Amino acid sequence: MIKKVLVANRGEIAIRVMRSCREMGIETVAVYSDVDRKSMHVRYADEAYHIGPAPSAESYLRMDRIIEAAKKSGADAIHPGYGFLSENATFSALCEKEGIIFIGPSPHAIETMGDKITARKTMIAAGVPVVPGTTEPVRDIKTALEVIRKIGLPVMIKASAGGGGKGMRLVKNEEDVVNAVSAARSEAKAAFGDDAVYIEKYISSPHHIEFQVLGDKHGNIIHLFERECSVQRRHQKVVEETPSPIMTPEVRAKMGEAAVAAARAVNYYGAGTIEFIVDDNLNYYFLEMNTRLQVEHPITERVVGVDLVKQQINIANGLPLSYKQEDLRQHGHAIEVRIYAEDPDNNFMPSPGLIKHITHPLGFGVRHDGYAYEGYEIPMYYDPMISKLIVWAETRREAIARLKRALFVYKITGVKTSIPYLRRILDVPAFIEGRYNTHFIEENQEYLQPKRTCSERAVDIAAITAFVDYINKLERLQPPATEKQLANNWKDFGRKRGVLRF
Ligand code: ADP
Repeated sequence: MIKKVLVANRGEIAIRVMRSCREMGIETVAVYSDVDRKSMHVRYADEAYHIGPAPSAESYLRMDRIIEAAKKSGADAIHPGYGFLSENATFSALCEKEGIIFIGPSPHAIETMGDKITARKTMIAAGVPVVPGTTEPVRDIKTALEVIRKIGLPVMIKASAGGGGKGMRLVKNEEDVVNAVSAARSEAKAAFGDDAVYIEKYISSPHHIEFQVLGDKHGNIIHLFERECSVQRRHQKVVEETPSPIMTPEVRAKMGEAAVAAARAVNYYGAGTIEFIVDDNLNYYFLEMNTRLQVEHPITERVVGVDLVKQQINIANGLPLSYKQEDLRQHGHAIEVRIYAEDPDNNFMPSPGLIKHITHPLGFGVRHDGYAYEGYEIPMYYDPMISKLIVWAETRREAIARLKRALFVYKITGVKTSIPYLRRILDVPAFIEGRYNTHFIEENQEYLQPKRTCSERAVDIAAITAFVDYINKLERLQPPATEKQLANNWKDFGRKRGVLRF
């Protein structure tokens, strides 16, 4: 049985994993880079090991140093969190070779699902619907055009090794195929060292709906229902909720079965997520499988009442799943928002730096998974996510009201954050009504623009008053100004004060 876990990660997810370990009586080991010496995960763990300089390639991605820290500390297992080494088959195999339990799936499952073309073929063989398209890499334009004529435009050209939205191109016209294929190829080569691309039909007004699965080493696989992740900015999730507002019990049951079949096709054990793309008529297609814990896993935990990290550890221990499919129910509604250190009003520029003050939201139905504290300096080297705010309530309507209440008190000063932007999302009618797809953000720009604050308006009023005084003075000294002169004076004055907006 696992007695000590090294968490090969940082930030909120490292702490989240350690919390479950502590409840299970398992000791925890942190690893940290130079800039993370004072990070909360280091303080939270029972012991901590330095593994290198700030860049992740020299620390959190250094398999040798992480294995060395595990050995030094006597950890019998490694939890990879998400990102970093979590979907690296070589690392999972290396842990096995070194006699350390990797809390995650087999190298075979990671490898099969990590290559999208292989994953598509595996899914077709398992009877899971995939987006219409190619099952072999597209090597020449002639083949590409043949496929496109068969499945019809628009299409997506996608990198087989893809991830994070890279190596993906939307093609609407035949004459753009040549450029799109070569652009996707070179982007894929640069990002993943593999230029294999394939073609998929573009699903218009799609929903991104994913299913959580759990499998043990005895062949039992269950699903824990869906998460709706269609509120995305540049293919990155911003808000997630469960249940999905568009789901029906029949489609949920069918997609759940498809998710289990997908996991079974690779003899999956551990926690994993099957991502589907769903059209307006609730036709669903396998998109990809993430062979790790997801950022948005807490909404499932809350609605289904299962601690996914504890399940991962039990599975790694070789224990059978604690639940059968028929034991599981969705209870109430949960929503998660991701809080980033970035400036939503300045093109989402990352905003690393010193946190001066934080007021955390508290109260019934609120969960906060974070790692920042007052006086902590958010480093510029890693993902700028500061925390996740998760709310639960009996109904979706109440959950939205609770999230608004929580975001109303959530204050972080010193760095810019996405909190104001998230508040605006909750006021968009399409979100409130649960009528949205992956185009939500681009379609609702008018609601997502910054609203002027009272203090900004007060500054303008003060400027206008000062301006009137100024004009009065001018009029006393000079003959009455023409309208044009007046307008010029106004603009000039405004520019000097920097307060006028036209
Ligand atoms: P990555 O692994 O790079 O994140 P995915 O295949 O998971 O790429 O797709 C990311 C997002 O891109 C999806 O959530 C969806 O919004 C959009 N997308 C991907 N494939 C399609 C498609 N065939 N049609 C429409 N949208 C798509």
